[in-house]
Amino acid sequence: MSIREIRERLAASALRPQRRLGQHFLHDRNLARWIVDAALQELPGPWRVWEIGPGLGILTELLLEKGAEVRAIEIDRGLAAILRERFGAEARFALHQGDVLQAEWPDPAGEWILIGNLPYSISGPFLASLFRRRAPFRRIVVTLQREVAERLVAAPRQSAFGSLSVMGQSLYRIVIRKRLPPSVFYPAPKVESAVVRLEPLGEPGIPGEEREGFCAFVRESFQQRRKSLGRRWNRKEPRRPEELSVSEWVEIWQELRG
Ligand code: SAM
Repeated sequence: MSIREIRERLAASALRPQRRLGQHFLHDRNLARWIVDAALQELPGPWRVWEIGPGLGILTELLLEKGAEVRAIEIDRGLAAILRERFGAEARFALHQGDVLQAEWPDPAGEWILIGNLPYSISGPFLASLFRRRAPFRRIVVTLQREVAERLVAAPRQSAFGSLSVMGQSLYRIVIRKRLPPSVFYPAPKVESAVVRLEPLGEPGIPGEEREGFCAFVRESFQQRRKSLGRRWNRKEPRRPEELSVSEWVEIWQELRG
């Protein structure tokens, strides 16, 4: 989809990109193809994909071409109408118009691949709710603001290491697959982006029913970064939150809950 096509499609429905909703549309079709391949490759079909913020449908179209079932959620009514017109006749496509932060999630998550060029404004809360969930998705491939991607993959003692790193890495193996310059989107955002892939760990240390508690514990601990964990949780631990590895976080959680 060229920039011209994006402009024309929006104009035909009297729409303009809404910065408030993080509407930056991918216009590089090769890159879109690469993202879809990164989401599906090496996983045997049938593919069930939950797409967040399909926008004008650049990824949706390619996913449907590949034979995937796509359940999409788009907050913008005008874009939802365009998507229904484009893909509504396709039996493998279902669209929910609404806010992903309020939406019902596909279940069981393990059967679903999650994909999306996420709106920057919601990526923090969305990822946190993703990591609190009992069960991981089959795979996740999302485009994020570069700084958020770096927080996801950060190691202990790196400045980007924080609660998001611990919550995410305790459930998923996370890699940055590609960095994207602002110019691949229309309109170009002010920040750089990165495509991140998350795959479930073989043996997560936190049982599903304890994930909410574990994530709350990690967040609370990082909110008072300066305090050692010993002072915070009344145990023999002189280190600060950012000095512990993810497996040490899991161990501490296991000890604390006895
Ligand atoms: N996937 C399209 C692409 O790559 O060109 C659009 C990506 S754009 C960065 C983000 C999309 O998410 C927009 O279509 C926007 O309307 C939608 N969106 C923003 N906030 C949302 C929310 N809370 N729930 C669902 N969709 C949202």
